[in-house]
Amino acid sequence: MHEKCGVVGIALQDRDAARPLYYSLYALQHRGQESAGIVTHDGFQQHSHVEMGLVGDVFDPDDLASLNGSNGIGHVRYPTAGSVDSCCAQPFSVSFKSGSLGLSHNGNLVNADEIRDELANLGHAFTSDGDTEVIAHDLARNLLEADLVRAVKRTMSRIHGSYALTISHDDTVMGVRDPEGNRPLCIGKLDDGYVLTSESAAIDTLDGELIRDVKPGELVVLHDDGTGFDSYQLVEQENTAHCFFEHVYFARPDSTIDDNLVYEVRRELGRQLWDESGVDSDVVLPVPDSGRAFASGYAEAAQESGADIEFAEGLMKNRYVGRTFIMPTQDERERAVRLKLNPIKSTIEGKTVTIIDDSIVRGTTSTQLIELLKDAGAEEVHVRIGAPAIISPCYMGIDMATRDELIAADRSTEEIRDEIQADSLSYLSVEAIAQSLDKGQGELCLGCVTGEYPYDIEGEETDRDVDRPVIGDQTMEADD
Ligand code: AMP
Repeated sequence: MHEKCGVVGIALQDRDAARPLYYSLYALQHRGQESAGIVTHDGFQQHSHVEMGLVGDVFDPDDLASLNGSNGIGHVRYPTAGSVDSCCAQPFSVSFKSGSLGLSHNGNLVNADEIRDELANLGHAFTSDGDTEVIAHDLARNLLEADLVRAVKRTMSRIHGSYALTISHDDTVMGVRDPEGNRPLCIGKLDDGYVLTSESAAIDTLDGELIRDVKPGELVVLHDDGTGFDSYQLVEQENTAHCFFEHVYFARPDSTIDDNLVYEVRRELGRQLWDESGVDSDVVLPVPDSGRAFASGYAEAAQESGADIEFAEGLMKNRYVGRTFIMPTQDERERAVRLKLNPIKSTIEGKTVTIIDDSIVRGTTSTQLIELLKDAGAEEVHVRIGAPAIISPCYMGIDMATRDELIAADRSTEEIRDEIQADSLSYLSVEAIAQSLDKGQGELCLGCVTGEYPYDIEGEETDRDVDRPVIGDQTMEADD
């Protein structure tokens, strides 16, 4: 079970949180299109509305009016290929002896099965096979014996993997980021309250101000009257493992994550791509939309270096076609690329063309595009990719196909070039990724491009066994 999602939590002074939560989920829609949900608490009771579908379809005005309370959390869930799985829609909400809990999760635990078995043996009944319910049960159990902060700390010492969580416990809303900071989470200030969210673009949508990222291993508790928040550094860890792919593909370009504006990172990656492997051609085309910022950086660096290269929109995207990547069969994925993208002949015919995309996963998009561009009269098609070759699956929360589907899992760059029929192909180096993010390679999760993961994944290499948090190895700011 992989959760690739967007989360939000809001505490306001004295108006209902449902609408701001709803608008935030709209802003996070790119992080998940399978289901959407909101849980609020009005001081007496918890309200929940969770359904399959897009945010705009899931909530009508009556639904929002019924979600009373100035505090709450929300979630959008990413679809996995072929699955329509209503049991995993979130926020997961439940009432335990310790009070009501709502939980929104982005990430993936590597030891959820272990904890589920342990809790099931103690009598906990599970209704889904998702990670989120495991976290909820573990936290509920800890809340029977400890206050909120200690209970969260105990749960954090037991769960391993990636997680950005927004949690409501009765009318208290909080946010937790995993000790490696693998998945993003930030805090924003609104005129009359505070917000925790996966991406700062959601704060902008609410006309709020980004305060900062939640730190790896930090718990942020919003005051239930919307007047402030408390911070508890529950797990201190030497190494971070920020997911670089958030910057390359997943996050919105207008979001700031871990102090970097995603758009500027992508433009810088594009500039480095030119420096590392620029190729002479008449025209540079972005693969819309994900390749745009990369292509503009690439073209700018090319032009600065004196190259006579035009930057043009040569591929039109049909905005009504959803994500082709998650179609269940290869046939459907190929058809969907054709439905989604169409070349503009005048910018292509008789020209040598470089196309820029953020990544190649299975190779479907580039194979289809090169054929299309050649049919439209391109003389040569060169491909430049703003990330290293994806050689290994993601276990930490990004849907990236299985190993045997990855075109680069067992092929050299030359073999891939031959397979997709490009005139030339180059990827960006791992070094350029770290440099553009202004981080050391050891601060990033690069598992999908190096095959070395910061977490213990069965059958996979890990690159930092020593620094993983263990029970009893945490520090805490509040009196412990
Ligand atoms: P593919 O066609 O399988 O080679 O996938 C590459 C294309 O899918 C690129 O245009 C990417 O922008 C996009 N892409 C990369 N990773 C993902 C992902 N995790 N989910 C959806 N689309 C993706």
